[in-house]
Amino acid sequence: MAKYDIVIVGGGPAGLSAAYAAARNNASTIVLEKDDSIAQNIRTSGVSWIDDMKRLNIPEKCYNPIKNFRIISPSKDIILKGKTPKSCVLDVRATYQYLATLAASEGAEISVRSEVQSVVSQSNKITGIMANTPKGKTEFESKLVIDASGFSSIVARKGGYAKNWTRYGIGVEYECYCDEIDPETWILMVGDKFSDAGYAWVFPISKQRVRIGTGVGRPESISDPIKKLNSIMESKITPLDELGSIQPIEFHYGLIPNEGSRQSTIFDGLLLVGDSAGQANPLVLEGIRFAIEFGRIAGDVGAKSLLKGCTRESLEQYEKFWKERVSSKIKSSLKVQSRWLKMNNETWDREVEIIQKMSVEDFIDFIKAQFTTSRLMKLALTHPHAAAKQLFGIILDK
Ligand SMILES: Cc1cc2nc3c(=O)[nH]c(=O)nc-3n(C[C@H](O)[C@H](O)[C@H](O)COP(=O)(O)OP(=O)(O)OC[C@H]3O[C@@H](n4cnc5c(N)ncnc54)[C@H](O)[C@@H]3O)c2cc1C
Repeated sequence: MAKYDIVIVGGGPAGLSAAYAAARNNASTIVLEKDDSIAQNIRTSGVSWIDDMKRLNIPEKCYNPIKNFRIISPSKDIILKGKTPKSCVLDVRATYQYLATLAASEGAEISVRSEVQSVVSQSNKITGIMANTPKGKTEFESKLVIDASGFSSIVARKGGYAKNWTRYGIGVEYECYCDEIDPETWILMVGDKFSDAGYAWVFPISKQRVRIGTGVGRPESISDPIKKLNSIMESKITPLDELGSIQPIEFHYGLIPNEGSRQSTIFDGLLLVGDSAGQANPLVLEGIRFAIEFGRIAGDVGAKSLLKGCTRESLEQYEKFWKERVSSKIKSSLKVQSRWLKMNNETWDREVEIIQKMSVEDFIDFIKAQFTTSRLMKLALTHPHAAAKQLFGIILDK
């Protein structure tokens, strides 16, 4: 038996950030990660936003800056050009390893190749977990378990606190060498050539390295995204025909919840964070910045609740914080996303025409779901184009 104040399940951005904040607050902390190393299996495309990465102190060397946004639909090909880079594509492995180093430097332990299998509880309170580790099957006793296991929500599900997600996205991508790509422009591709319920992407990491992927939403689509991606790669349809020789170097596969966040993310002795809590922006499957930010709050509030027995009440500040920050944004994104999942080639062309009429700033706010109600109201009433007015109206209607 091993004893810690806080046991964190999952060494993704949420778990590593929670470990950093918990250890910084002097809680004895361990992260259990099932893979052999941090970021061994990449489950994300790594697009994020430079202002958020700066705010979260992620070093500039961890990302490739992006200025322009190109969108290709069956008969449109548009580009919104920015003056300065606002978005970025992360070197995911470097970023997560950096987060691991931060956590370790504050005193958190990290145990790789350690898969959590079951939970231990007493009188409706989680008191630990059982894991297979390189040292054998071990019981970890703790005052608080933080479930940062991503899509699987392993602790919450095993403890009977959460159900399997029923709506989710599956994304697959190849990280590739290519002869040359504009490293400042990311590309989204829509329409049935690319996905029957979702979209495909080309995200540059440097002049000669790019992530090419596609995603589908379940249950809307039952199609196999790997077959779709292979057909996109083989047929080399635009924009892949512009990249010269393309050679896959890594294959990435991931699942992301797509039904909004979980109602409850705190229980006696248990807290959920990151994808486990459903905290991502569902519009573009984007959750890394939330995982880091809410992970740090989770570790902070968790450590401060130790003296209060890590009861549900003592963790409330965490849930209040993240709900105030993203609940309404996630709800707005879900409205646009459910519209997008039903689009056909013709309606996608019309949607891309609307996007073409947005300023870069409005497009970024739209894709990040970060409009304030007053700004949305203004756009819904005064945008010069009727279709854009209607789109902003849909997001506004709560
Ligand atoms: C295809 C795809 C593309 C995406 N693209 C983007 C993007 O461009 N930008 C963006 O911001 N977000 C993107 N996301 C979402 C983003 O990846 C997630 O929101 C983010 O990774 C959530 O972080 P997390 O730490 O909660 O979970 P994860 O990153 O999933 O980390 C969970 C960790 O827990 C570990 N784990 C799971 N079960 C156990 C267990 N039983 N025992 C021990 N360890 C366990 C896993 O191995 C993993 O390391 C994408 C998601 C997918 C699926």
